[in-house]
Amino acid sequence: MFSLKEQIEIKNNVIQFTEKLLIENLAELDQQEKFNLEGWQKCGEWGIMGLPIPQEYGGRELDPLTTIYALEGLGYGCKDNGLLFSIAAHTWACEIPLLTFGTLEQKFKYLPKLVKGELIGAHAVTESEAGSDVYSLQTTAQKKGDKYILNGSKMFVTNGAIANLILVFANIQPERGKRGITCFLVEKDFPGFLVRKKMSKMGLRTAQMAEIVLENCEVPAANLLGKEGAGMAVFSHSMEWERGFILASAIGSMERLLEQCVQYTKKRKQFQQPIGKFQLISSKLVDMKMRLETARSLLHKFGWLKQQEKSAFMEAAMAKLYISESWVQSCLDAIQIHGGYGYLTELGLERELRDALGSRLYSGTSEIQYQIIAQFMGL
Ligand SMILES: Cc1cc2nc3c(=O)[nH]c(=O)nc-3n(C[C@H](O)[C@H](O)[C@H](O)COP(=O)(O)OP(=O)(O)OC[C@H]3O[C@@H](n4cnc5c(N)ncnc54)[C@H](O)[C@@H]3O)c2cc1C
Repeated sequence: MFSLKEQIEIKNNVIQFTEKLLIENLAELDQQEKFNLEGWQKCGEWGIMGLPIPQEYGGRELDPLTTIYALEGLGYGCKDNGLLFSIAAHTWACEIPLLTFGTLEQKFKYLPKLVKGELIGAHAVTESEAGSDVYSLQTTAQKKGDKYILNGSKMFVTNGAIANLILVFANIQPERGKRGITCFLVEKDFPGFLVRKKMSKMGLRTAQMAEIVLENCEVPAANLLGKEGAGMAVFSHSMEWERGFILASAIGSMERLLEQCVQYTKKRKQFQQPIGKFQLISSKLVDMKMRLETARSLLHKFGWLKQQEKSAFMEAAMAKLYISESWVQSCLDAIQIHGGYGYLTELGLERELRDALGSRLYSGTSEIQYQIIAQFMGL
């Protein structure tokens, strides 16, 4: 485990690393919905995709809390939230379930390449009629000899258009309902795997989202992840980790936004005084600060619990809900504080807001996080 001093050092090292990403043409990448492959590769070389992964698979083997510090640094230094979202989906929804439920053979086959960024991972569970009610999914899997044959389609798959390895959830025994759900490691070159269409979206536009189709898709039996019927366990474990960690970089982004706003309000004068002297403006900055610190505390509590190898399902939902809502509100405040300039594309604040809005939807909507927290409260 790392000391607080070392954790802050790691965060600063990541901030320094992000300077090498040199994302000067972000507005263009965003407009054209282009994936930043060069940035992805640099992150792979540095070890960003292997932060929590054991060294035997090429990872940096950071503990959960230290991983959070590193991700905060990543969000602080890198404004390409789409790239960071691609990395998060790859890490939390593909690498972590593989690490937890994979056989040694599966782990040694895929993890070292995923960690280096040579393979891109994705997670495909959502369907057109199975969103929040995810266990009502209709994709089926049938065992035939030493293969499973998958049929169905998946929506909103982050990295779907560019992924080499996709975790696909399908039902092997629909008559058993959700107990038939099973997870498979599907390679993009398996016969019957198709990317139907790239999905264009409001924010996180540099992350590549797609609808995928499985048409008699042949998956070798060796690519079953976990046991037959264990899909719910794989999914819920992966959601706990994903919800907890996916917005760690948003804390860094909120920290950067706040610093930018404080500087601006000290410099920008109206009515012969800095606008930060107006209480209606300074109170927005205080709200941004309060949100940042509260969001960070919730996230660090989650990280601390995972450090103790404790279950933190409710804490993950609380962190996800609070950080996503705070990120959106702080983006709105940042735009308001910058006045008309905040509304211009040039400043990048409108892009940050568009990116932040997605966080209320993925990994379970805010409403679903409320529902999870209420259930843990016995309601
Ligand atoms: C940017 C982004 C990335 C994504 N990445 C992936 C991915 O990589 N892989 C993947 O499989 N999926 C992914 N998704 C899909 C995401 O998980 C779903 O969009 C989400 O779970 C909601 O499902 P839905 O869109 O079908 O909305 P619906 O479930 O139809 O919900 C519509 C509205 O009803 C509300 N609602 C639904 N049920 C309840 C309830 N019980 N109580 C209260 N309100 C309720 C919702 O909160 C929402 O406001 C992604 C989505 C986005 C936006």
